[in-house]
Amino acid sequence: MITKFRTRLTVILAGLVAGALLVALAAVWVATENQLARAIERELGVSERVFRELLDSRSVQLLQAAEVLTDDFGFKRAVSSKDRETIISALVNHGERIEAELMVLQTPDGTEIASSHAFEQLRINPRTAGLNRELAVVEGKLFQLVTVPVNAPNLIAWATLGFEVDSGLAQELKSLANADISLWLENSKQVVASSLQHEQVSSLSEVLKNDVKALDNWLSKYDLAGNEIILDAGSNDAVHVVLTTSLDAATAEFTRLRWQIIIIAVAALIVAVLLAAIIGRGVSRPLQQLSGAARKLQQGDYSKSELSLNDDEFGNLANAFGSMRKAISEREKRISYQASHDQLTDLPNRRFFREQLQHLLNDASEAGALLLLNIHQFRVLNDSVGQEIGDDILRQLSTRLQQCCSSSASLARVGGDEFAILYSNEKLKINLDDKIEKLKASLTPPFKVGDSDYKLAFNVGVVNFPEQGSDVDLLIRRAQVRVQQAKRQQSFYVEYEKGLDEQHMRRLQIIESLKNAVEDEELKLVLQPKMNCQTGLVVGAEALLRWQSEKLGFVGPDEFIPLAEQSGAITELTEWVCRQAFRLLYQWHQQGRALKLSINLSAVDLLSDALPLLFETLIKDFPELPRLLVLEVTESAVMKDPEKATARLETLQRFGFSISIDDYGTGHSSLAQLRRLPVKELKIDRAFVQHLSEDSMDKSIVRSTIQLAHELDLHVVAEGVEDEASWKLLKTLKCDELQGYFFSKPLPVSDFIDYLNDHDVNG
Ligand code: C2E
Ligand code: CA
Ligand code: CA
Repeated sequence: MITKFRTRLTVILAGLVAGALLVALAAVWVATENQLARAIERELGVSERVFRELLDSRSVQLLQAAEVLTDDFGFKRAVSSKDRETIISALVNHGERIEAELMVLQTPDGTEIASSHAFEQLRINPRTAGLNRELAVVEGKLFQLVTVPVNAPNLIAWATLGFEVDSGLAQELKSLANADISLWLENSKQVVASSLQHEQVSSLSEVLKNDVKALDNWLSKYDLAGNEIILDAGSNDAVHVVLTTSLDAATAEFTRLRWQIIIIAVAALIVAVLLAAIIGRGVSRPLQQLSGAARKLQQGDYSKSELSLNDDEFGNLANAFGSMRKAISEREKRISYQASHDQLTDLPNRRFFREQLQHLLNDASEAGALLLLNIHQFRVLNDSVGQEIGDDILRQLSTRLQQCCSSSASLARVGGDEFAILYSNEKLKINLDDKIEKLKASLTPPFKVGDSDYKLAFNVGVVNFPEQGSDVDLLIRRAQVRVQQAKRQQSFYVEYEKGLDEQHMRRLQIIESLKNAVEDEELKLVLQPKMNCQTGLVVGAEALLRWQSEKLGFVGPDEFIPLAEQSGAITELTEWVCRQAFRLLYQWHQQGRALKLSINLSAVDLLSDALPLLFETLIKDFPELPRLLVLEVTESAVMKDPEKATARLETLQRFGFSISIDDYGTGHSSLAQLRRLPVKELKIDRAFVQHLSEDSMDKSIVRSTIQLAHELDLHVVAEGVEDEASWKLLKTLKCDELQGYFFSKPLPVSDFIDYLNDHDVNG
């Protein structure tokens, strides 16, 4: 199969032309064939006519000669005198003069007077023998005869003159009619005259002797065309006249004509093939160009293809193709732009930014800084003012960032409330601080939406590359850690310091491991005794959490409690602590020990609904619980959401629980504020107590606090008592209860019972 369109077209066109030529050639062939046959026939016909005319003219010639003879007086006298000698000599004389080969003289009744040939064979009937030409075979030869009367004045004799029809005549005819003539006799089958060559003649004689019908074979043997006519030769013989002409000669012209036509046809065919090839090229070239352009498109090359096409259908197709290419390339550009840009701010998105950073990192000579900027509590703002205003603020922010960043920086929005600024400049180190100051200044003015002003806080984390990381993920993570750090420190920005990563990782690990701490029974409660300040006797204990993690080892509460609060795991921990405290108190109650137990509640616990529900069920089982369980909350926990916390504390108070304010003095609230809370107890923070005996400032703070608290009818606990002097002092200051290493460190439950037993005995 021909797969190439161009070749196929060439073959089809050439085939069509060849077919047409073949038909024309066949038609010409047939026509020339017919023409040839007709021409030969005509030629032979002409030859026949010439032959007959030749015979006629010879007859006339004979007749004139005969009339001259019969008019000759001497001859007439010789005939009438019947002088045979004279007659014969006259006949011979005349005959010789006109070159007649045969001479006969007979009486009016037909008896021979004189004859040059065998008279009996002639059988001339003078009455019928007119002036017509007449042929006769005499002595095996063919003669043309003329018979005329000899009158003196009456008919005295008939004179017959004869010319032999021989090869001479045949030659004469040939020179006149351009055809060969051969004559043969019917009876003897003998060729009597012929203009043909000797060899042909003898071959004809052979053929005739064997089979008259084989004449056609003889003709074709010598490449001849022939016509046969039969003439009478006396009463019992006939002469066959065969007119032949060489087919070669006749065909020669036609053959030449045919060759000419064939040459013309071949030339036409070549021209057709060339034309077809040119047309094919003309058609396939634009197609090739178009398919080349399409292939380019397929490979993602959208550059303009130079298509030199005419103003025809292909040109239109090329134009359509060009528009298609443009449309596709624009669409692709749009798609890739959308894929790499943020729709809201039109800034590059996280993906694009990562690629950019990767690009910079790949180039070893590039150094720079990555700033990650986070909007503080943007989600809260978004929730409270609505998405539309939030979007507006983001757009304004992006504009400010764009104005603020120099040309050496690239900006991207990498998260909902997070932007990245990438500085790639070797001299950057020197002026990064300036840049950050400038950034801070540009972000400080409030954002105006409608009539309202929105003041936003930002946290920025900074990392330098390549010294602080040459990996995209690492750099981004480190910058994020910095942002979190800044958030915690409530500062605008934090720069990378070694070790921050590890802290961050540890925090993540703690949060992860905390999830299963309760289930895996990794938690334990330790109890720190609380003493009556005046007597030094144990009145209760504070329950403190201990966590021995399988993965991380021992983790102190100062480390894991804030993380549990952040991750929300604190709810589960507090529940666990409550159930443990419940069990201990229940046990002690059964054992008749009148001890109180304090537990710590975090801000998250205060706001969650789980705690009141739990207490409800626990109280059902042990109604004495609220009287014995003290709930410690820090003032900062209450201040996170004072209204809700106060309401919750009131509920707990209604249950009967005593509420204690923990770490008093570290927050900023005044006692007057705390008064409004349903609080029974105040725990002075250990920071004021630890160095109480040496520090007069602490002393006066503790004194006034105890006094004020007592005026407000609050029970006062001092924690962090580390020496006896402090105890003594607190005693004089009329503090109610004490807690501290001086008495005991937090103890495992069984040790606490031992401690109790020892001190009860002592006390
Ligand atoms: P806190 O509630 O103020 O607990 C008292 C802390 O002071 C305990 O540290 C205790 O060991 C320590 N302490 C007691 N006496 C002295 C002393 O004389 N000198 C010194 N330097 N320290 C003393 P701990 O057990 O490491 O607990 C630290 C903090 O962890 C607690 O402070 C509390 O805020 C939190 N925490 C512990 N357990 C829990 C819990 O079950 N729930 C909640 N929400 N927080 C807990
Ligand atoms: Ca406490
Ligand atoms: Ca405390």
